Amino acid sequence: MRKKIVAGNWKMNTLLKEGMELAKAVEKLEKEKTSDALVIIAPPYTHLSRVKDLIQGVKLSAQNCASEEGGAYTGEVSPDMLKSVGVEYVIIGHSERRAYYGEDDEELNKKTKLALSKGLKPIFCCGEVLEEREGGKLYDVIRQQISVGLKDLSKEEMAEVVIAYEPVWAIGTGVVASPEQAQEMHKFIRGLLVELYDDQVAEDMTILYGGSCKPSNAAELFANPDVDGGLIGGASLKAEDFLGIVNAY
Ligand code: PEP
Repeated sequence: MRKKIVAGNWKMNTLLKEGMELAKAVEKLEKEKTSDALVIIAPPYTHLSRVKDLIQGVKLSAQNCASEEGGAYTGEVSPDMLKSVGVEYVIIGHSERRAYYGEDDEELNKKTKLALSKGLKPIFCCGEVLEEREGGKLYDVIRQQISVGLKDLSKEEMAEVVIAYEPVWAIGTGVVASPEQAQEMHKFIRGLLVELYDDQVAEDMTILYGGSCKPSNAAELFANPDVDGGLIGGASLKAEDFLGIVNAY
């Protein structure tokens, strides 16, 4: 049985005190949740070790990690460092990293492999921009991102990976993919995993939807057979909204 997950990506938001308050509020509401989805939060790097002490039921993710183990890489944070403060998950290949920091599929593959080798679980993001969707290239784009980004992983490693499908045109725009659009792409991704790996890897893979997900639209997105939860940006910055999405499951 694959895991249901709702993960909150705080991006570059909240000062430490606000982040700690938010983590506490999420932890409190998680205890009262009506769904069996696993709840994950991804605060900024600076908050991770303090937030770790405030959560139990809620799991901790980083928003990124280095592709190198350690050494002279100014400004980078290694998977080992993340592990050392109790991080379990790491978002890899968010569209903002791809677009603003030039992270390409090969680099993301390197990060994914390194993270896995250090015992972190990657939340691997993929998604097409609007022109690619309108130009009918959406499936080619996702095929490329997944087949290169998740290249040469063993089946055991794939069992630790979570995929997040995040159409870039839906991120932070208020324009959400329709339940049909989400299901169509999630089904395609699962089919691709059959092709690249096998039926078991595909069946067990948790595939999250991300892009303007809110308490009011979460239920119809999560009702799809191939949608296993969500990666939430804006709405994860308010504990009530975030848990509203969790409870919509
Ligand atoms: C995201 O950035 O991963 C995301 C899904 O953002 P939002 O929910 O704000 O669209």
